[in-house]
Amino acid sequence: MTVPQITLNDGSTIPQLGYGTFKVPPADTRRAVSEALELGYRHIDTAAIYGNEEGVGQAIADSGVSRDELFVTTKLWNDRHDGDEPRKALQESLAKLGLDQVDLYLVHWPTPAKDNYLHAWTQLIKLREAGLARSIGVSNFLVPHLEKIVTATGVAPVVDQIELHPAYQQRDVTDWAGAHDVRIESWGPLGQGKYDLFGAAAVAEAAAAHGVAPAQVVLRWHLQHGFIVFPKSVHRERLAQNLDVFGFELTDAEVAAIDALDPSDGSGRVGSHPEEFN
Ligand code: NAD
Repeated sequence: MTVPQITLNDGSTIPQLGYGTFKVPPADTRRAVSEALELGYRHIDTAAIYGNEEGVGQAIADSGVSRDELFVTTKLWNDRHDGDEPRKALQESLAKLGLDQVDLYLVHWPTPAKDNYLHAWTQLIKLREAGLARSIGVSNFLVPHLEKIVTATGVAPVVDQIELHPAYQQRDVTDWAGAHDVRIESWGPLGQGKYDLFGAAAVAEAAAAHGVAPAQVVLRWHLQHGFIVFPKSVHRERLAQNLDVFGFELTDAEVAAIDALDPSDGSGRVGSHPEEFN
């Protein structure tokens, strides 16, 4: 099993598949991340707001995996965009993670009603220059938010981490990202289990054809689109299953059938809308 590395627009590389830790309970995080690292995951996605950065840090310290083999992402929470708060927030995250530098630091949400995401982005540029983050990016940014920060600073994020799964494909954002060398990270890649994705004929038929689980079909669909993914589970067998997606390939027709699962009217969204989440 070899997870492909994707080269970002600043020259850094990121493992295309990782482990997501949203809703991994703090008390269970050390165990779950340790299992993920044992199984071979080398990319961990966390956030200050998840409350589990300490558990991630403990698992990293326990693992004996060398720092340069690991890719760790964390995120700036919404109430810390102003003034010098981003630097303080990242320093707090680094202390919890037990690291000197994160591989990727993201503005978690644009919170447009507060009109301070451009300031937050200028601060992340400084944090990268200071060496506290190797790469910087954004999350939940829509095209107007992306346009605004790139026009004002000339610095494009390396990634935009957005809700993306077959029923909600956000093609306006993915098209913009493709044209600007910004990679897409799919959050909620399995739809967070909030709709019957695995029962959709396009997914179930491909799973039967390849002799794999529906979750593996959906992860393969993300990978074949070039998206970066980090599915979440706290169960060892699912952690193993989600990593075991490099031994088969969906046909173009199978990918197209899953592409067609988006109703294209936005109704497939399962999370918050970035314009309304402040
Ligand atoms: P997900 O789509 O990864 O769904 C996770 C759920 O899918 C699990 O709780 C489990 O019920 C199910 N599942 C996982 N593996 C399975 C398998 N093999 N078979 C059957 N069911 C399976 O949702 P997510 O955790 O919200 O998203 C992944 C990661 O994205 C998060 O952990 C987090 O790191 C990130 N995220 C970021 C944001 C953001 O605003 N930037 C928001 C949500 C999530």
